[in-house]
Parts: sequence; structure tokens; C-alpha cells
Amino acid sequence: MSDKNIPKIVILGAGYGGIVTALRLQKQLNYNEADVTLVNKHDYHYITTHLHMPAAGTDDPQNARVNILKLIDEFKIDFVKSTALEIRPAEKKVILENGEVSYDYLVIGLGGEPETFGIPGLKEHAHFIRSINSVRLIREHIEYQFAKFKREPDRTDYLTFVVGGAGFTGIEFIGELADRIPKLCKEFDVDPSLVNIYNVEAAPTALPGFDPELVQYGMEVLQNKGVTFKIGMAIKECSPDGIVLADGEEIKSQTVIWTGGIRGNRLVEEAGFEAMRGRVKVDPYLRVPGRDDVFMIGDCSLVFNPEGRPYPPTAQMAIQQGETLAHNLIASIRGTQLKEFTYQSKGTVASLGKGEAIGIVFQRKLKGSTAAFMKKIIDLRYLYIIGGLPLVFRKGHF
Ligand SMILES: Cc1cc2nc3c(=O)[nH]c(=O)nc-3n(C[C@H](O)[C@H](O)[C@H](O)COP(=O)(O)OP(=O)(O)OC[C@H]3O[C@@H](n4cnc5c(N)ncnc54)[C@H](O)[C@@H]3O)c2cc1C
Repeated sequence: MSDKNIPKIVILGAGYGGIVTALRLQKQLNYNEADVTLVNKHDYHYITTHLHMPAAGTDDPQNARVNILKLIDEFKIDFVKSTALEIRPAEKKVILENGEVSYDYLVIGLGGEPETFGIPGLKEHAHFIRSINSVRLIREHIEYQFAKFKREPDRTDYLTFVVGGAGFTGIEFIGELADRIPKLCKEFDVDPSLVNIYNVEAAPTALPGFDPELVQYGMEVLQNKGVTFKIGMAIKECSPDGIVLADGEEIKSQTVIWTGGIRGNRLVEEAGFEAMRGRVKVDPYLRVPGRDDVFMIGDCSLVFNPEGRPYPPTAQMAIQQGETLAHNLIASIRGTQLKEFTYQSKGTVASLGKGEAIGIVFQRKLKGSTAAFMKKIIDLRYLYIIGGLPLVFRKGHF
């Protein structure tokens, strides 16, 4: 499909934003109107919003991944499995680990990276829920702690689990972990009262910005499952032995999982784009300011609400951006009108483990099994968007 005269679109990252952009282009571009290349470091797309489950071991990591070649039409999109190493906007090219690609239009959808806010030791000693590989490691690590405890029964730090951050990822992971612990205790013949799960959050509340009544309900559900909250308490330091809190308390633990912050992909800053924590404040058409050939979506982009506050980086945001972006790429090629991006929140639901969740959908507060059901509908809807009914039937059992 390579023709020197047709515009070349390169999409970096096949996450939520990148895959939706690619699929929309695949559907809407006319034959030979553009040459589209999708670059991703794995040959699968992962459903990040599902990763807290395999991380805790309550589901198989396989269920969170989808083969990219099963989603795209290779006659319309070239897929390159490679890691992007450097973006060179002045040369309109991207250096890959195994070559380079040049572009007329570049889409950057490389997702985010953990933000550790300079807390000493966190980068080195904590785990991060970021990818299929990272959640496999966390799952194995948790099981291994139980096995180690059986050999050294005085080491309760093996059975102490610390989750840093009580945002959506932290809360959802804790819900799953709390469900998994009783099963692990049974499997390894461990007294459940020896296990401790801590959730540490520096902000004055869990799920900052979320409805206080639902937050209260969610915390009670998790407390009843054995979770101890340390809210309004920063982690001062992390070491191989555990964490130290701002008030000096030390929690000995061999398992610290950090979910407390996210920043844009480091390639964004390295490319010289003006960014705040790796995220670029895009123009209304999702372009990097001052450039009409580079678009940014998902966790790498920064979009502000009408009150001037940045929207949190979410899958919902990345999907909606991907839809607008496909339109704007085609409009750029055809010389027609670009569309301004406006975010429309369809609601938010956080799971609290099996059959329990809290959320606000269409301005209605939901909790318990109704919210958990809604969470499933949201997951299924996404599968339908990217892979239609076949994907819903293949992966939709979670
Ligand atoms: C555990 C967890 C739970 C979440 N739950 C929710 C939720 O319930 N609802 C919600 O709306 N949001 C949720 N989020 C946030 C949501 O997942 C992100 O906002 C969303 O994935 C961002 O999409 P993206 O397209 O920017 O990047 P991503 O989906 O992160 O995709 C980035 C892609 O780029 C690839 N990549 C990265 N670097 C390179 C490179 N150098 N070269 C090539 N490829 C590269 C990656 O492999 C990946 O495929 C959750 C996040 C996590 C971690």
C-alpha cells in the first residue's frame, strides 16, 4: 500500500486512543487516500481498565489482551511491532528499535508512565500496574510471598501488602486483592488474620473528586474485607523493607504497589514538545500547539474542562479523542473542516471486587451489584467498539 504520493499517517501506540484512531481511519478512509502505519511495542492491545484483576490474580492476564492483527485489516493498516525510541519532529520521522518511519501526520498515543513524585525508593522498589508483563509479575510476586512465609513464619512482612494511592486504579486493585487473599490463605494454609492490606493516600480522601457518599460506601466495603486505610498520609520513602509514612510510622512489607500518579510518555518531552509531566496541552483539534502535523491523544495529552481544570487521563477520554482525531486526520488530508474536541463524560464506575462497585452514570449514583453490572456493560461496550460482537463473545466473559 505504499505510494510516495499519498500522505503517510503514523500512529504510535495501539492503546485505547491509538487503536480507536486506527480502526476509524480503516473504516472512513477511501482506497489509497492515505498510507496508515500503526506502531506498537507488543503485537497485542491490552485492556488496561481490566489489569487490576490479573494483577491480583483474580483473572487470567490472557483475558486482558487482544491480538492487534485480529482487530485491524492489514490491507488497510500496516502494523509494525516495534518500540519507538525517539520522535524527531523536525525531520518528520520516528526512530524505532529496528529502523525508522517517516510521516506526514503523526499521532502520539503512547500512554502514560508511573509518576512517583520524587518519593525516594519508589521507582526502584515498588511495583506498577501498567502492562500485561507488569501484572504477571505482581501476581507471581504475591503468591511467592505466601510460599516464602511458609518457610519463615516469623516474617509477617511477607503477608503485608501496601498499595500507594487510593485513586481508581488503587481502589480497584485493592478490591480484587482483598478477594484473592482468602483463597491464597486457604491454598497455602495461612491464618488470614496474619495478612494485612494497607491503602495509603496523601489526599484528604480516597477517590479524590468523587462523590463523598459513594466514597464512604466504597471504603466501608473494603474495610469489611480487611483493608486498612491511611488517608491524608503521604509515603515518605520506600525501601526493600517496606515504607515510611510522613508521620514516621514504618510499615514493613515486601510488596508495595504504587498507583498514585501518572505522567505522559517520556518520549513526548524528549521530542522537545512543551509538556507538563509529559503531557501536552493540545489545541482544540488535538494537535500539538504550533504544529499541524502532530496530534496527541490519551494519557500523553492534556485537555481542560470549561472551569479550566485538566480532565483526568482515562480510557473514556482516549476513546473519544480517537474518534475525533480520525475525523481531523481525514479532514487534514482532504482540506476540509476540522472538528473541535469536546469531552462528554458518560459516567465513572470503580469496582470494589467481585459483585461490588460504586459509580455515577448519567448523573445517577450507583452502588453494589447494580454498579458492578454497569461496570461490565462499560467493558463490553469497549470490546464492541474495537472488535464488534465476535470480540464481545471471545473476551466478554469477565
Ligand atoms: C489498572 C488501571 C485501571 C484503569 N481503569 C480505568 C477505568 O476503569 N476507566 C477509565 O476510563 N480509565 C481507566 N484507566 C486509565 C486508562 O487505562 C488510560 O487512561 C488509557 O489506557 C490511556 O489510553 P492511551 O491510548 O493513552 O494509552 P494506553 O492505553 O496506555 O496505550 C499505550 C500503548 O502504547 C504502547 N507503547 C508505549 N510506549 C511505546 C513505545 N515506546 N513504542 C511503541 N509502543 C509503545 C503500549 O504498549 C500501549 O499499547 C486505568 C488504568 C490502569 C493502569
